Amino acid sequence: MEAVRTTAEGATRIKTKEVKAFGTQAADADLGQMNIQRRTPTPHDVEIEILYCGVCHSDLHTARNEWHGTIYPCVPGHEIVGRIVNVGSHVKKFKVGDSAAVGCMVDSCRECQYCKEGLEQYCEQGNIQTYNSPDKHLGTQTYGGYSESVVVHEDFVLRVPENLDLAATAPLLCAGITTYSPLKHWNVGAGKKVGIVGLGGLGHMGVKLAKAMGAEVIVFTTSTSKVEDAKRLGADDVVLSKDPDQMNRYAGKLHFVLDAVSAKHDINEYLNLLRVDGSLALVGAPEHPLPVAAFSLIPMRRSFAGSMIGGIPETQEMLDFCGRHNIVSDIEMIGIQQINEAYDRLLKGDVKYRFVIDMASLKK
Ligand SMILES: [Zn+2]
Ligand SMILES: [Zn+2]
Repeated sequence: MEAVRTTAEGATRIKTKEVKAFGTQAADADLGQMNIQRRTPTPHDVEIEILYCGVCHSDLHTARNEWHGTIYPCVPGHEIVGRIVNVGSHVKKFKVGDSAAVGCMVDSCRECQYCKEGLEQYCEQGNIQTYNSPDKHLGTQTYGGYSESVVVHEDFVLRVPENLDLAATAPLLCAGITTYSPLKHWNVGAGKKVGIVGLGGLGHMGVKLAKAMGAEVIVFTTSTSKVEDAKRLGADDVVLSKDPDQMNRYAGKLHFVLDAVSAKHDINEYLNLLRVDGSLALVGAPEHPLPVAAFSLIPMRRSFAGSMIGGIPETQEMLDFCGRHNIVSDIEMIGIQQINEAYDRLLKGDVKYRFVIDMASLKK
């Protein structure tokens, strides 16, 4: 079904197509089926039939307006893998039938210093996120991957290595790049000792990636039940963070710590694991400020840092790296009708390690 709509500026008329989606109308409402409009591809766009979409904690935060600023209706999903079904007349990178992926961003200003460096996630104008950002084409908000299809400028579409399982690739688009980017930025590789704090959706990718980069990987977890799993994922050692003796074994020993915990925790305990010039980067986002003791940093010239997803060139680099090393996420596949239950389980940490929605279920 095609309709003609007028954009916010009122200047251009863009044709749209109505597609099925799953989203929510309010912070306290369950997600349910709805219809949304997708633009018909402009010359540089590709239209992707979505086959799989990963379920990120950000989806839940946004659907429930926990970070404020959610515009309803809200259709989450930014770990998208699918197949190209239509391409605009000027598209060069893709052809119909190619598999393709879309992550957390669908556009940016493309002109600022960061966009020019391929760091679109830090765009001075603010990147255009895959959902809940202003859609400059339609004048609405952007809608994410819990839907039949998506239309994206080819510059923000990624190639998927042929050897990777498509469903298990979906979480690489957020959980994968969010951990890959800081591991690369802080030069993780052979000869480096790296701590991964928290073994969830992000942490389990951090372990696999850091190990493939050649580092010695130590997982820090609060739960004894995760020790064996951490080793299966590739950890060289696992430390129960509640045990001071175990923590002390690594005091001043690590080159880098990737902290993927979003619950409240004492950051000083982890800063103390760093050797001279070591860095700790946060990728989890605890709700409240974290107190940092000056003497956790000063005596060893340590750095306390953060990192957000990754730019488009680096996201492609990450996918290619995963292709070469045969790395995908550990997933639990669900139908879209189970999404509300999946959110409840996500809150309890009851998933190994990422839910992925089989989007064929939306057609039922
Ligand atoms: Zn995410
Ligand atoms: Zn920019």
